[in-house]
Amino acid sequence: MAEQENINVVARIRPFSAWIGTNRQSCLLLDPNNSTITVKSASKDQKFEVNTVFNEDTSQVSIFAKVGRSIVDGFVEGINGTIFAYGQTGSGKTYTMIGPDAIEPNANAFSEENRGIIPRALEDIFATLNAEVEKKPDSFKFSMKCSFLELYNERLYDLLQNNDATIKIQSCLEQITVVGAAEFEVTTYDECMHHLWRGWNQRKVAETSMNRESSRSHAVFMLTLVTEQTEGTAINRPSRTNK
Ligand code: ADP
Ligand code: MG
Repeated sequence: MAEQENINVVARIRPFSAWIGTNRQSCLLLDPNNSTITVKSASKDQKFEVNTVFNEDTSQVSIFAKVGRSIVDGFVEGINGTIFAYGQTGSGKTYTMIGPDAIEPNANAFSEENRGIIPRALEDIFATLNAEVEKKPDSFKFSMKCSFLELYNERLYDLLQNNDATIKIQSCLEQITVVGAAEFEVTTYDECMHHLWRGWNQRKVAETSMNRESSRSHAVFMLTLVTEQTEGTAINRPSRTNK
Protein backbone atom coordinates (compact mmCIF):
# COMPACT_ATOMS: atom_id res chain seq x y z
CA MET A 1 0.00 0.00 0.00
CA ALA A 2 1.44 3.32 -1.09
CA GLU A 3 0.72 5.18 2.11
CA GLN A 4 2.46 2.59 4.22
CA GLU A 5 5.97 3.02 5.47
CA ASN A 6 8.54 0.35 4.73
CA ILE A 7 9.30 -0.21 8.39
CA ASN A 8 6.57 -0.26 10.95
CA VAL A 9 7.27 -0.44 14.66
CA VAL A 10 4.45 -1.69 16.82
CA ALA A 11 4.43 -2.33 20.55
CA ARG A 12 2.31 -5.03 22.15
CA ILE A 13 1.79 -5.01 25.89
CA ARG A 14 1.02 -8.42 27.39
CA PRO A 15 -1.34 -8.98 30.31
CA PHE A 16 0.04 -9.67 33.78
CA SER A 17 0.62 -13.34 34.56
CA ALA A 18 -2.02 -14.85 36.84
CA TRP A 19 0.58 -15.66 39.52
CA ILE A 20 1.21 -11.94 40.07
CA GLY A 21 -2.18 -11.74 41.76
CA THR A 22 -4.50 -8.76 41.88
CA ASN A 23 -2.39 -6.36 43.90
CA ARG A 24 -0.38 -5.02 40.98
CA GLN A 25 0.32 -1.80 39.22
CA SER A 26 1.54 -1.28 35.68
CA CYS A 27 4.60 0.86 35.13
CA LEU A 28 3.36 1.66 31.63
CA LEU A 29 1.15 4.42 30.42
CA LEU A 30 -0.29 3.76 26.98
CA ASP A 31 -1.68 6.33 24.64
CA PRO A 32 -3.05 4.40 21.66
CA ASN A 33 -4.28 7.61 19.99
CA ASN A 34 -0.81 9.09 19.80
CA SER A 35 0.92 5.70 19.65
CA THR A 36 3.12 6.43 22.61
CA ILE A 37 4.19 4.41 25.62
CA THR A 38 5.50 6.01 28.76
CA VAL A 39 7.57 3.91 31.12
CA LYS A 40 7.10 5.34 34.59
CA SER A 41 9.93 5.28 37.04
CA ALA A 42 10.73 7.05 40.30
CA SER A 43 13.55 9.05 38.75
CA LYS A 44 12.41 9.89 35.23
CA ASP A 45 9.54 8.86 32.95
CA GLN A 46 10.55 7.77 29.47
CA LYS A 47 8.26 8.26 26.52
CA PHE A 48 8.51 6.19 23.33
CA GLU A 49 6.72 6.81 20.07
CA VAL A 50 5.95 3.91 17.74
CA ASN A 51 3.60 3.38 14.79
CA THR A 52 0.96 1.48 16.74
CA VAL A 53 0.44 0.51 20.36
CA PHE A 54 -1.55 -2.61 21.23
CA ASN A 55 -2.77 -2.96 24.78
CA GLU A 56 -3.11 -6.17 26.80
CA ASP A 57 -6.62 -6.85 25.47
CA THR A 58 -5.52 -7.09 21.85
CA SER A 59 -6.39 -10.45 20.33
CA GLN A 60 -4.13 -12.60 18.19
CA VAL A 61 -6.50 -12.11 15.25
CA SER A 62 -6.24 -8.33 15.36
CA ILE A 63 -2.47 -8.45 15.77
CA PHE A 64 -2.31 -10.51 12.60
CA ALA A 65 -4.70 -8.21 10.76
CA LYS A 66 -2.62 -5.18 11.61
CA VAL A 67 0.90 -6.59 11.56
CA GLY A 68 0.96 -9.75 9.46
CA ARG A 69 -1.50 -9.30 6.66
CA SER A 70 0.22 -6.55 4.70
CA ILE A 71 3.48 -8.51 4.80
CA VAL A 72 1.66 -11.61 3.53
CA ASP A 73 -0.01 -9.60 0.78
CA GLY A 74 3.36 -8.27 -0.32
CA PHE A 75 4.94 -11.73 -0.08
CA VAL A 76 2.52 -13.38 -2.52
CA GLU A 77 3.17 -10.52 -4.93
CA GLY A 78 6.94 -11.00 -4.73
CA ILE A 79 7.95 -8.45 -2.11
CA ASN A 80 10.33 -9.58 0.62
CA GLY A 81 8.97 -9.07 4.09
CA THR A 82 10.14 -9.66 7.64
CA ILE A 83 8.36 -9.63 10.94
CA PHE A 84 10.85 -9.19 13.74
CA ALA A 85 9.80 -9.72 17.35
CA TYR A 86 11.98 -8.03 19.94
CA GLY A 87 11.62 -8.01 23.69
CA GLN A 88 13.00 -9.43 26.89
CA THR A 89 12.37 -13.04 27.96
CA GLY A 90 8.77 -13.52 28.97
CA SER A 91 7.51 -10.45 27.15
CA GLY A 92 5.42 -12.45 24.67
CA LYS A 93 7.50 -12.89 21.50
CA THR A 94 6.75 -16.60 21.14
CA TYR A 95 3.11 -16.05 22.01
CA THR A 96 2.80 -13.34 19.37
CA MET A 97 4.70 -15.12 16.61
CA ILE A 98 3.61 -18.75 17.16
CA GLY A 99 1.08 -18.99 19.95
CA PRO A 100 0.99 -19.97 23.62
CA ASP A 101 4.03 -21.91 24.69
CA ALA A 102 2.28 -25.20 23.98
CA ILE A 103 4.84 -26.84 21.82
CA GLU A 104 2.66 -29.77 20.83
CA PRO A 105 0.71 -29.23 17.64
CA ASN A 106 -2.42 -30.76 19.13
CA ALA A 107 -2.29 -29.15 22.54
CA ASN A 108 -5.52 -27.47 23.55
CA ALA A 109 -3.81 -24.19 24.23
CA PHE A 110 -2.84 -23.94 20.58
CA SER A 111 -6.39 -23.26 19.49
CA GLU A 112 -7.65 -21.39 16.46
CA GLU A 113 -8.14 -18.33 18.64
CA ASN A 114 -4.68 -18.46 20.20
CA ARG A 115 -2.62 -19.02 17.09
CA GLY A 116 0.02 -16.41 16.47
CA ILE A 117 1.25 -14.57 13.39
CA ILE A 118 3.19 -17.42 11.70
CA PRO A 119 0.34 -19.99 11.57
CA ARG A 120 -2.11 -17.30 10.47
CA ALA A 121 0.29 -16.06 7.80
CA LEU A 122 0.83 -19.59 6.48
CA GLU A 123 -2.89 -20.19 6.26
CA ASP A 124 -3.40 -16.92 4.43
CA ILE A 125 -0.55 -17.54 2.00
CA PHE A 126 -1.80 -21.00 1.02
CA ALA A 127 -5.41 -19.78 0.77
CA THR A 128 -4.40 -16.97 -1.59
CA LEU A 129 -2.14 -19.12 -3.75
CA ASN A 130 -4.55 -22.06 -3.93
CA ALA A 131 -7.40 -19.74 -4.90
CA GLU A 132 -5.21 -18.48 -7.72
CA VAL A 133 -4.42 -22.02 -8.88
CA GLU A 134 -8.12 -22.87 -8.85
CA LYS A 135 -8.93 -19.82 -10.92
CA LYS A 136 -6.14 -20.33 -13.43
CA PRO A 137 -5.27 -24.05 -13.34
CA ASP A 138 -3.47 -23.87 -16.68
CA SER A 139 -1.52 -20.69 -16.27
CA PHE A 140 -0.55 -20.29 -12.60
CA LYS A 141 1.88 -22.41 -10.59
CA PHE A 142 3.69 -21.93 -7.35
CA SER A 143 6.27 -23.67 -5.23
CA MET A 144 7.31 -22.80 -1.73
CA LYS A 145 10.19 -23.79 0.52
CA CYS A 146 10.82 -23.22 4.18
CA SER A 147 13.92 -23.19 6.33
CA PHE A 148 14.37 -22.56 10.03
CA LEU A 149 17.56 -21.21 11.59
CA GLU A 150 18.77 -20.13 14.93
CA LEU A 151 21.32 -17.41 15.47
CA TYR A 152 23.27 -17.74 18.66
CA ASN A 153 26.61 -16.19 19.58
CA GLU A 154 27.13 -15.06 16.00
CA ARG A 155 26.74 -18.64 14.74
CA LEU A 156 23.91 -19.99 12.68
CA TYR A 157 22.35 -23.35 13.50
CA ASP A 158 19.97 -25.22 11.22
CA LEU A 159 16.89 -26.22 13.19
CA LEU A 160 15.67 -28.51 10.41
CA GLN A 161 18.86 -30.58 10.15
CA ASN A 162 20.28 -32.72 12.91
CA ASN A 163 23.89 -32.42 11.89
CA ASP A 164 25.74 -29.26 12.74
CA ALA A 165 25.82 -27.95 9.20
CA THR A 166 27.75 -24.79 8.68
CA ILE A 167 25.55 -22.01 7.52
CA LYS A 168 27.05 -18.83 6.25
CA ILE A 169 25.69 -15.36 5.84
CA GLN A 170 26.66 -13.87 2.51
CA SER A 171 26.34 -10.28 1.57
CA CYS A 172 26.30 -9.49 -2.14
CA LEU A 173 25.11 -6.32 -3.84
CA GLU A 174 23.51 -5.14 -0.61
CA GLN A 175 21.49 -8.35 -0.43
CA ILE A 176 22.06 -10.56 2.55
CA THR A 177 21.51 -14.27 1.98
CA VAL A 178 22.05 -17.42 3.97
CA VAL A 179 23.93 -20.27 2.32
CA GLY A 180 23.83 -23.92 3.39
CA ALA A 181 20.49 -24.11 5.21
CA ALA A 182 18.21 -27.07 4.51
CA GLU A 183 15.15 -26.07 2.54
CA PHE A 184 11.98 -28.15 2.55
CA GLU A 185 9.36 -27.95 -0.15
CA VAL A 186 5.95 -27.27 1.38
CA THR A 187 2.63 -27.59 -0.41
CA THR A 188 0.15 -27.28 2.46
CA TYR A 189 -0.34 -25.47 5.76
CA ASP A 190 0.07 -28.74 7.66
CA GLU A 191 3.38 -29.54 5.99
CA CYS A 192 4.69 -26.12 6.84
CA MET A 193 3.49 -26.35 10.46
CA HIS A 194 5.13 -29.75 10.71
CA HIS A 195 8.53 -28.19 9.95
CA LEU A 196 7.84 -25.28 12.26
CA TRP A 197 7.14 -27.62 15.20
CA ARG A 198 10.05 -29.87 14.28
CA GLY A 199 12.48 -26.96 14.32
CA TRP A 200 10.93 -25.47 17.41
CA ASN A 201 11.39 -28.70 19.35
CA GLN A 202 14.95 -28.90 18.09
CA ARG A 203 15.51 -25.43 19.49
CA LYS A 204 14.24 -26.54 22.89
CA VAL A 205 16.60 -29.54 22.89
CA ALA A 206 19.56 -27.37 21.89
CA GLU A 207 18.68 -24.87 24.59
CA THR A 208 19.01 -27.50 27.29
CA SER A 209 21.85 -29.59 25.94
CA MET A 210 24.05 -26.72 24.83
CA ASN A 211 22.98 -24.21 27.39
CA ARG A 212 21.88 -21.71 24.81
CA GLU A 213 19.92 -19.07 26.56
CA SER A 214 16.72 -18.31 24.69
CA SER A 215 17.07 -14.63 25.51
CA ARG A 216 20.25 -14.49 23.48
CA SER A 217 19.24 -16.72 20.61
CA HIS A 218 17.12 -15.69 17.68
CA ALA A 219 14.98 -18.10 15.70
CA VAL A 220 14.40 -17.24 12.04
CA PHE A 221 11.68 -19.02 10.06
CA MET A 222 12.00 -18.31 6.33
CA LEU A 223 9.72 -18.94 3.40
CA THR A 224 10.73 -18.71 -0.25
CA LEU A 225 8.01 -18.53 -2.84
CA VAL A 226 8.33 -18.95 -6.59
CA THR A 227 5.30 -18.25 -8.73
CA GLU A 228 4.97 -18.83 -12.44
CA GLN A 229 2.34 -17.12 -14.47
CA THR A 230 2.09 -17.78 -18.17
CA GLU A 231 -0.95 -15.61 -18.90
CA GLY A 232 -2.81 -12.68 -17.40
CA THR A 233 -1.75 -10.29 -14.69
CA ALA A 234 -0.96 -10.07 -11.00
CA ILE A 235 -2.51 -12.19 -8.30
CA ASN A 236 -5.98 -11.12 -7.24
CA ARG A 237 -6.23 -11.61 -3.55
CA PRO A 238 -9.58 -12.78 -2.22
CA SER A 239 -11.42 -9.92 -0.54
CA ARG A 240 -11.46 -10.04 3.24
CA THR A 241 -12.67 -8.05 6.15
CA ASN A 242 -10.05 -6.76 8.49
CA LYS A 243 -11.02 -7.51 12.06
P1 ADP B 1 9.04 -14.73 25.16
O1 ADP B 1 8.96 -15.61 23.96
O2 ADP B 1 9.15 -13.27 24.81
O3 ADP B 1 10.12 -15.13 26.12
P2 ADP B 1 6.46 -15.88 25.81
O4 ADP B 1 5.78 -15.66 24.50
O5 ADP B 1 6.95 -17.25 26.09
O6 ADP B 1 7.67 -14.83 25.97
O7 ADP B 1 5.48 -15.38 26.95
C1 ADP B 1 5.68 -15.63 28.33
C2 ADP B 1 4.38 -16.12 28.97
O8 ADP B 1 3.38 -15.12 28.87
C3 ADP B 1 3.83 -17.35 28.28
O9 ADP B 1 3.27 -18.19 29.27
C4 ADP B 1 2.74 -16.80 27.37
O10 ADP B 1 1.72 -17.75 27.12
C5 ADP B 1 2.24 -15.58 28.16
N1 ADP B 1 1.79 -14.50 27.27
C6 ADP B 1 2.57 -13.73 26.51
N2 ADP B 1 1.85 -12.81 25.82
C7 ADP B 1 0.57 -13.02 26.16
C8 ADP B 1 -0.67 -12.41 25.80
N3 ADP B 1 -0.73 -11.39 24.92
N4 ADP B 1 -1.80 -12.90 26.35
C9 ADP B 1 -1.75 -13.93 27.22
N5 ADP B 1 -0.63 -14.55 27.62
C10 ADP B 1 0.53 -14.11 27.10
MG1 MG C 1 10.18 -17.21 23.42
